[in-house]
Amino acid sequence: MICVGVANQKGGVGKTTTAINVATALAAIGWRVLLIDLDPQGNASTGLGIGQSARGASSYDLLTGEAELNDCVVTTRIPRLDVVPATVDLSGAEIELIELDQRTHRLRNALHGTAAARWDICLIDCPPSLGLLTVNAMVAADSLLVPLQCEFFALEGLSQLLQTIERIRAGFNPRLEILGVALTMFDRRNNLTEQVAQDVRTCLGDKVFDTVIPRNVRLSEAPSHGMPALIYDHRCSGSEAYMALARELLGRLPNLKRAA
Ligand code: ATP
Ligand code: MG
Repeated sequence: MICVGVANQKGGVGKTTTAINVATALAAIGWRVLLIDLDPQGNASTGLGIGQSARGASSYDLLTGEAELNDCVVTTRIPRLDVVPATVDLSGAEIELIELDQRTHRLRNALHGTAAARWDICLIDCPPSLGLLTVNAMVAADSLLVPLQCEFFALEGLSQLLQTIERIRAGFNPRLEILGVALTMFDRRNNLTEQVAQDVRTCLGDKVFDTVIPRNVRLSEAPSHGMPALIYDHRCSGSEAYMALARELLGRLPNLKRAA
């Protein structure tokens, strides 16, 4: 199972929207996908229609070792897409994990067993911080998908993220790499957006995916219906962009497999 973390410590940049819709796109083209909701807000779980009552064992139990991977998985109504949901317990995990052995490797250890062979790829939706939850995702992951909103402070936040990735690489997970940076909420009519996108491409080169995700109201409506935009309206510009992003991402995975 290839493991990809969806991370950026900046809030509201499109991590969850990207995780849900890339996961759905990959499932649609035949991949067996596991989405792990590692954010106490539980937006990925809600956005996939997993209500509170359907959340039994969760990503919290997986991290604390109270449940095994198989016991935490909930199937979604999308064929081949399963979820490990998040519950509010997870908000205490940043503190509770400090006391536990192997606090940075809890998720990696939980995903290591034979149970993980049920899926081809795992996406981890990270919270907007660089705390222990995100660190667990970075230690477990082969690579990172970084959504970046095209706005003025985008690059500033990015340097902090890159430093953290370097630290994780040096200390815990030398194979961690950035699979790609995805520009989100792109608005062609806004000059600043274009300028930021150009700056990001200058700075990060081919790490930036060619596909950009446009600002599209259908993407923001879909979660309230408990479904990915790709199911809610598969022909809207946002859905089409996420299909293209998933294809581009797949094109980068063979390199990853060789490196692993
Ligand atoms: P957090 O850091 O809080 O976890 P996030 O990085 O996961 O946030 P999302 O929840 O995916 O970000 O997106 C933030 C908000 O912007 C949501 O209301 C979402 O529906 C909306 N949104 C995301 N992407 C787009 C887009 N391309 N066009 C329009 N709205 C979007
Ligand atoms: Mg989120």
